[in-house]
Amino acid sequence: MRIHVLGVGFNNMTMEQAVAEGVRLMNTEGTHYAVTPNPEIVEVCREDPEALAAVNGADLVLADGIGVIYGARMLGTPLKGRVPGIEFAKALMARMAESGKSLFLLGAKPGVAEQAADNLRREYPGLKIAGVRDGYFQEDGPVTEAIRASGADVAFVCLGAPKQEKWMKKNGPDTGARLLIGLGGCLDVFSGQVQRAPVIFQKLGLEWFHRLLKHPSRAGRMMKLPLFLVHVAGERRK
Ligand code: UDP
Repeated sequence: MRIHVLGVGFNNMTMEQAVAEGVRLMNTEGTHYAVTPNPEIVEVCREDPEALAAVNGADLVLADGIGVIYGARMLGTPLKGRVPGIEFAKALMARMAESGKSLFLLGAKPGVAEQAADNLRREYPGLKIAGVRDGYFQEDGPVTEAIRASGADVAFVCLGAPKQEKWMKKNGPDTGARLLIGLGGCLDVFSGQVQRAPVIFQKLGLEWFHRLLKHPSRAGRMMKLPLFLVHVAGERRK
């Protein structure tokens, strides 16, 4: 059963449950995809039906941001907890390394995915990186073909939201991968180009605030956060 926050249906799962489900999906016939919406993406979905369909069409919808947790609680339907996309990805890579599964990294500026691949191979000995590709391409065909040819079991799709969600919904089956996961700026972090917020910010659910301090140009995008809470409050009144 999913818990809906402003139209987006989230799986009500702890991190452990989400990882177990990810492992199950990567071992199940067919192509599946997972998304990790934060309040900003929920707001985008309110205005973009195609984005909403792509997000709700996912096999796994994980609550990435603390704002989603607050929103669900305000609506009287609390979620078990936050499942940040990057933590989910790391836990899954540890499991993939153990079981010999292979991973394709798609997205970010040229060179970033290669650097991320080098770092991840070191961090998760045994993890097979089947291939990489930057996220600035014109045609989908050669990209889906590259993933298919690589034989990857899993693909991290890091094109930013809602592009990556739409891309996975449309192109997922053509890649032949069992599981695709939309992970936004994760390759920038795995490559070492972008630092994650210090642990204290992570624990307090203030990663968004750290990002704002580091990249003030994101302030416009981040105005979606208070807007999200206003909309949740409106929904509650209804
Ligand atoms: N990106 C991409 N192709 C595009 C647009 C963006 O590969 O056409 C990449 C961009 O380089 C960055 C990521 O997508 O690595 C989006 O990062 P951001 O932090 O904006 O994503 P969020 O996690 O906030 O969705």
